Amino acid sequence: MKYVSTRGAAPVLSFGEAMMTGLARDGGLYVPETVPVFSAEEIADLAGKSYEEIAFRIMRPFMGDTFSDDEFKGLIAKAYAGFGHAARAPLVQLGPNHFLLELFHGPTLAFKDFAMQLIGQMMQAALAKSGQRITIVGATSGDTGSAAIEAFRGLANVDVFILFPHGRVSDVQRRQMTTPSEDNVHALAVDGDFDDCQAQVKNMFNDFDFRDGVGLAGVNSINWARVLAQVVYYFSSAVSLGAPHRKVSFTVPTGNFGDIFAGYIARSMGLPIDQLVIATNQNDILHRALSTGEYRTNGVTPSISPSMDIQVSSNFERVLFDAYGRDGAAVAALMDELKTGGGFKISQGALQSLRAMFGSGRCSEDETRATIKSCYAATTEVLCPHSAVGVKVAEENLGAVPMITLATAHPAKFPDAVEQATGLRPGLPPRMADLFDRAERVTRVPNDLKALQALIRERRRS
Ligand SMILES: *Cc1c(COP(=O)(O)O)cnc(C)c1O
Repeated sequence: MKYVSTRGAAPVLSFGEAMMTGLARDGGLYVPETVPVFSAEEIADLAGKSYEEIAFRIMRPFMGDTFSDDEFKGLIAKAYAGFGHAARAPLVQLGPNHFLLELFHGPTLAFKDFAMQLIGQMMQAALAKSGQRITIVGATSGDTGSAAIEAFRGLANVDVFILFPHGRVSDVQRRQMTTPSEDNVHALAVDGDFDDCQAQVKNMFNDFDFRDGVGLAGVNSINWARVLAQVVYYFSSAVSLGAPHRKVSFTVPTGNFGDIFAGYIARSMGLPIDQLVIATNQNDILHRALSTGEYRTNGVTPSISPSMDIQVSSNFERVLFDAYGRDGAAVAALMDELKTGGGFKISQGALQSLRAMFGSGRCSEDETRATIKSCYAATTEVLCPHSAVGVKVAEENLGAVPMITLATAHPAKFPDAVEQATGLRPGLPPRMADLFDRAERVTRVPNDLKALQALIRERRRS
């Protein structure tokens, strides 16, 4: 299995290389050259299997010879052993034809753990073989950072630097990043928003001297290995509702487009998905793009679902690549326009194909709070604000096909918003009950590439 860049001008890589590389050297994102298709029998045969077994069968064809089968099975087992639920990704029923996929039972209480715990295991195993050292630099809107820190804290051959927007993450999210005491962990509070953090990480990757000098590795959702790990729960949940004999639909609270892109891959692999619905908060660039045909940024407005406060959805580039017939030069031109002019028009043909693949909807702040309240009243399920955005948009799209909404974080990560909506303050699970007693360690940094690079060069252990 080979991986190619969405901008068509970077080396073709193996799975292991694409995982360690993150962003392609032409600024693009790696995607598989071809997507393996599973037969109906192969999908049916996943029914009743453990999450780990399904993970092995779904991911194996993408991985080439990076790991042996036994080795990969061992990594999967370790990745999910720390989850607080035996099913890993349990389904809960909300209504007659509406289900919630709880993806928040991992160590940092958000769906990011599904990919990050596994990529942590895989990178560790790959580094042990090569004897290499790496510096992981990631941008976070709140949940990626803690998931990455949790996956890499204390490792001898890895330094982790996480950039988060100062003052724009919840207290629980911040404390999950600032309280680990290991000296390979560095939480950096940037004076800017998430898009600034993400842009600085991309700038560092595009500075080849710096990139090669510190052994830069990326674990943002631009990393293909993360997307791949997320494909698994689309299969596990769909199969438990009767796929491939019965179609299912998904609604996905969306920010950087990584999670829903994994659903798109699942469909390309043969999973019979009817609707794939993008749910956005008031930062609705994706919903506007699909509605109007114009992808245009207009500034991030902070919301009560901060992990979706994003205007430049990196992984959207991956579907654009397909929608433009895998024309890397065309994608590169669009991304150039985005960078210099703040947006671009999607061609008529590409727009048609995007609309055939995705539905979309937007949920306001008031609607988010109202949904947390009504869902609790109707079902006793307590939603986090991101999951509520998903449930609200899913409710507008319910039909004859079962709808699965992805619950992306645990309500206890956003206790203020949940308390305001329900009067109930969700408690942290016992394993992290002392989070507010631990000491914090954080460095405030300007939104400045040179300053960030100097700090990383100085702090990393070499
Ligand atoms: C990251 C995140 C999202 C958005 O996921 P993307 O893959 O960036 O689209 C939604 N909800 C929560 C809680 C998240 O942490």
